[in-house]
Amino acid sequence: MKIIQKIGLAIFLICFAIFISLLGLGKYQLTEVSFKASVTDSTHQALLAPNIQQMLGKTYDSKIDFITDYNKSLDKTNQKFKDNQEWDKVIYTDYALAITKNSTIGFVKDNQMLLFYICFVISALGGAIYMVADLFIHPVAGIKNNDIFKRSITSRGIIAIFFSVFLVVFYLFLYKAPAYISNWVLLVDPLSFSLTGGEASHWFLYGFLYSIIMLTMGIRMYVKYRHNTYQMVRTTSVIFFQLAFAFMIPNILTKLQLPAMDFKNMWPLDYTFFFDYRLDSLLSAGMLGYWMLGWGIFLFVVGVPVMVYFFGKRWYCSWVCGCGGLAETFGDPFRQLSDKSLKAWKYERVIVHSVLVFAVIMTAAVLYTFFTGASTILGINTYAIREIYSFAIGFVFAGAIGTGFYPLMGNRVWCRFGCPLAAYLGLVQRFKSRFRITTNGAQCISCGNCSTYCEMGIDVRAYAQKGENIIRASCVGCGVCAAVCPRGVLKLENLAEEGRFDIYTRPEEQ
Ligand code: SF4
Ligand code: SF4
Repeated sequence: MKIIQKIGLAIFLICFAIFISLLGLGKYQLTEVSFKASVTDSTHQALLAPNIQQMLGKTYDSKIDFITDYNKSLDKTNQKFKDNQEWDKVIYTDYALAITKNSTIGFVKDNQMLLFYICFVISALGGAIYMVADLFIHPVAGIKNNDIFKRSITSRGIIAIFFSVFLVVFYLFLYKAPAYISNWVLLVDPLSFSLTGGEASHWFLYGFLYSIIMLTMGIRMYVKYRHNTYQMVRTTSVIFFQLAFAFMIPNILTKLQLPAMDFKNMWPLDYTFFFDYRLDSLLSAGMLGYWMLGWGIFLFVVGVPVMVYFFGKRWYCSWVCGCGGLAETFGDPFRQLSDKSLKAWKYERVIVHSVLVFAVIMTAAVLYTFFTGASTILGINTYAIREIYSFAIGFVFAGAIGTGFYPLMGNRVWCRFGCPLAAYLGLVQRFKSRFRITTNGAQCISCGNCSTYCEMGIDVRAYAQKGENIIRASCVGCGVCAAVCPRGVLKLENLAEEGRFDIYTRPEEQ
């Protein structure tokens, strides 16, 4: 069976190598047709047209040269208006990805479907073979974490560092320079046309990659935790919410020319929810738009307190949320890397609540502009506040660090230190909830498995040794501490609120 596992790994690695090599393939030729297909605004077409003339008909062997020439044409067009302070004529729309994609000629363009199958379907199959082979290598169910601190990838070794750099660079291109990954976006164009009725954007690619990674790594979760019903159901839940709510439904809404919405993603995690363009789109969509707006507000005003009261923050962080879903599937091999020190706990509380305060201030400023039309508040430009939040929290913290640092800092860096919604859910969980993890201290043998595999850096063993209930704002209720405990000491429970801080004795222990 080990040979089959190695074959699965080899298939995945070969497909991954092909996927990476695609970035350097292809030639680029801008034509009138590709220009008009990319620059959809007719005013922008007219303004840009004189300056892209020298690019028309020229064949570029290098994507970098092509994008550089386009950027020069754009700068030349905009410079004139900036000099004349004609700000309404400056082109802010980023057409670089669309132009690069529509100007691609050659191997990638001619073999879109073949490369789609190799890069996504066959590679996922290779990954699945690797995961499923473990069923036969370890026929007895039970969690195996053998050698986890000896493998380079799971113990901050050189492979982990390379992997982390790769993820951070990927986010950098995704957010700031998607034109350079145009060949990857090109591969998902056919899928995008069938789902949304339009060509793929880099965010469509991201949503698709997110979904197949969760699906493939979800298979690993099913194999690893197959004896634990809680983990099996929870994994199914996060995969379902990703595929249906985050990926399929918003794309189908786009096809129906309705505002795209991920119905489970709520403010303040979805920090753009109150941005003017989102509100305009909802308010212009009739009754459905009003309902969507109401649903978004209902979720965080009523949904959070009620659901956290009854079930703890786990209902969202470990069962529904997309960030949590990725952390629990793709990030599971790295959960032991979370910092368990008291210092980390102190930083965590200050940082995560500061982000929540920042999110509230930023949203208040954005709404102030929306309702009054004034673009400054106390002399500060509200667009600048929202740009700073989008860059610092949306891109750097949630994207580059939050996922890029999985292999170095563990799988819940964002959820623990940065997510404003987790901070809000955590406050309710800490002060008004029926949820707690009960501990049967007499059974604890102090092995420390629970603390080692707590992704939120909670020293679970310290509570277990004292027989104390675990009531922590940060606990996402993933249940892995209970799953790895060899003595059945820990139990996630929703009990009566009264006495939650008392030492609790389970009925079977009385
Ligand atoms: S204490 Fe247990 S349930 Fe809570 S986050 Fe840590 S491992 Fe998950
Ligand atoms: S895993 Fe169980 S036995 Fe080991 S320290 Fe934690 S509570 Fe105690």
